[in-house]
Amino acid sequence: MPSTLIGLERAELAQRLAAIGEPAFRARQIWHWIYYRGARDFATMTSLSKELRQRLDAEFTLERPAIGSEQRSADGTRKWLLRFTDGNQAETVFIPEEDRGALCVSSQVGCTLTCRFCHTGTQRLVRNLSAGEIVGQFLVARDAYGEWPSPRGERLLSNIVLMGMGEPLFNYDNIAAALRIIMDPEGIAISRRRITLSTSGVVPMIGRVGAELGVKLAISLHAVTDELRDVLVPINRKYPIDELLQACRTYPGADNARRITFEYVMLKGINDSPADARALARLIAGIPAKFNLIPFNPWPGAPYECSTDEAMRRFAEILNAAGYTAPLRTPRGRDIMAACGQLRSASERLRLSRMRARLAAGIPDDHHPAVS
Ligand code: SAH
Ligand code: SF4
Repeated sequence: MPSTLIGLERAELAQRLAAIGEPAFRARQIWHWIYYRGARDFATMTSLSKELRQRLDAEFTLERPAIGSEQRSADGTRKWLLRFTDGNQAETVFIPEEDRGALCVSSQVGCTLTCRFCHTGTQRLVRNLSAGEIVGQFLVARDAYGEWPSPRGERLLSNIVLMGMGEPLFNYDNIAAALRIIMDPEGIAISRRRITLSTSGVVPMIGRVGAELGVKLAISLHAVTDELRDVLVPINRKYPIDELLQACRTYPGADNARRITFEYVMLKGINDSPADARALARLIAGIPAKFNLIPFNPWPGAPYECSTDEAMRRFAEILNAAGYTAPLRTPRGRDIMAACGQLRSASERLRLSRMRARLAAGIPDDHHPAVS
């Protein structure tokens, strides 16, 4: 079966082409077609001979992940449920703003972590996404807006946030490869300053993000004490707040122009008191930081509620008074379950239906002792 070229870094692409007898400069030409022009078909690569195009077509594909479904929010947010070649699925969300927009990219199918307020955390991890599947999410969105060739000035798909499903730092190698492709100046060319990676706090990997990729960092903090963070963000039991903030203090490239974003989900009566806000400002002191206060986005069966407007306003004011930028984000795409923490693919449902079929056929399921 032909293999995909999407997601191969330059050197790998050159190797594949060398294996079919092509010289090194071909990789550069083809790179340009794929990532600058957005070619979806070798036939359109008119700077290559017809014979070579046919050859490429026989050996390789430029296929994107299949679009399982697409939803549009009243506020313009778009969500795609993508299906990969093995049938697994993940979601990608585009959040347009006036003259630009951010694509929220997933790094895994589901998530191994189980943050209490996050819908994705209730879905068991199926697997890491490959570099090609991560780049593929971007290509699908670009195709949808027809934004090819890759604009050099203003662009609608201007920013990327790694804030979709999954913990990106549990899939570092594939995320890094995908970002190197996306940042490459001869292709999509999104600058590292327009890319933000959000982590729940995988401390040992944080330094590498700054040193090797240089993208912006966001930390899902959500609590000011280990006692509460242990419950909300269970990875805290392994890497407590102290260690997490130490990694932020030494994050390569963080300065006042490139601040670290601290994400803080507003949970009614849990982490939203004025005392919490003051403790938060004290905790972060000395780190070039800004806050992203996220109103809790509900999902079926969620154990929390969103803070009141009044509590959120007061919380933001205290951080502002302490000298921090702390915008209260208006949730986007809530009506299509596309807002932060609402993503969850149908993979689990698929698994359940398969399991039911097995049970009906009398085959025991070792993972799930009971199904209601
Ligand atoms: N796994 C990574 C990135 C994806 S989540 C991480 O945890 O950082 C993106 C952001 O949405 C995180 O800050 C996450 O904590 C937050 N989030 C998760 N569930 C949410 C919900 N129901 N409402 C609001 N924000 C949520
Ligand atoms: Fe995973 Fe992030 Fe959700 Fe936590 S908040 S369960 S790390 S996706």
